[in-house]
Amino acid sequence: MRTGHVREVVILGSGPAGLTAAIYAARADLNPLVLEGEPSSTGDQPGGQLMLTTEIENFPGFAQGTMGPQLMADMRTQAERFGADLAVEKATRVDLSTSPISIWAGDDEPPVRARTLIIATGARSLMLGLPNEARLIGHGVSTCATCDGFFFRDKPIAVVGGGDSAIEEALFLTKFASSVKIIHRRKELRASKIMQERAFRNEKIDFIWDSTVTDVLGTDHVEGVTIKDALTGHERDVELEGLFVAIGHAPNSALFEGQLELDANGYLLTYGGTKTAVPGVFACGDVQDHEYRQAITAAGSGCMAAIDAEKYLAALQHQLR
Ligand code: NAP
Repeated sequence: MRTGHVREVVILGSGPAGLTAAIYAARADLNPLVLEGEPSSTGDQPGGQLMLTTEIENFPGFAQGTMGPQLMADMRTQAERFGADLAVEKATRVDLSTSPISIWAGDDEPPVRARTLIIATGARSLMLGLPNEARLIGHGVSTCATCDGFFFRDKPIAVVGGGDSAIEEALFLTKFASSVKIIHRRKELRASKIMQERAFRNEKIDFIWDSTVTDVLGTDHVEGVTIKDALTGHERDVELEGLFVAIGHAPNSALFEGQLELDANGYLLTYGGTKTAVPGVFACGDVQDHEYRQAITAAGSGCMAAIDAEKYLAALQHQLR
């Protein structure tokens, strides 16, 4: 991968945005290098958030649905088939002020140099921020039903959140758990109607409305949670053996702070498609999209980023002539 030559395109991230960008850039004969990212305890992993999903029913082209990890494996194979180089490495530093751009990964020196950079670093799970939640991660606290559901066979568990992720996780977890409580801070779910109806119909699921989790109980594994009624302020303990946190996501943009423009929530700002304010740097997928956040929109913007990069390189080539 580190051939020393200046890469035409380097892509950071290997979710639907990054891999679609890789397919398009590879088919444009640009031999992109994809730094796929590395697994971490907070749920980061090559393939992105779809690796933590079960069935995908709304990705066009799959009339009977497909599985998230399978979709990502297929995109990866497709990108490699056209000549993309993929590396399970995480960018640790970038310098966007130079041309070519420099990208460091791990302890690797010298940096990878690239004429264009496509940022597709995605988003990560938000946590409640409770000390015992952090302490019990991997010991009953989880952000990934697909990864950990199996460990909760015939056990009572809860999911926090009221969006599509929370409902999807809860529905999946009913395959294993004896009961699933959905703890939501309001009386109304944010999730799509079809998901809501499935949850309401599922007899293993019940709801604790207008409530927040204020503590996670247990010494070396989860034994329960303390919940607070948002209307009365009353606190009570609920016995549980697992707590799945599904309260949304934050963009993985810290690497670019001070070099690219970020909005108040940390999403990268783009102009007219996927262009950032730095020439040759493009952003796509969940790291720049706080509105749609779907696999298909991420893939679409990955395609746009590759085309934008290709046009930028063509213009650069023209200038050099
Ligand atoms: P989301 O839609 O932002 O929902 C987050 C949920 O967590 C909301 O119900 C929110 O409550 C709650 N929440 C946020 N912070 C909280 C806190 N500190 N304490 C307690 N609760 C908190 O996030 P998401 O469910 O991860 O979904 C993200 C996007 O992906 C959405 O566009 C969604 O449609 C999409 N998605 C789609 C599918 C699918 O189609 N199969 C699956 C998963 C996700 P409030 O409602 O009160 O704000």
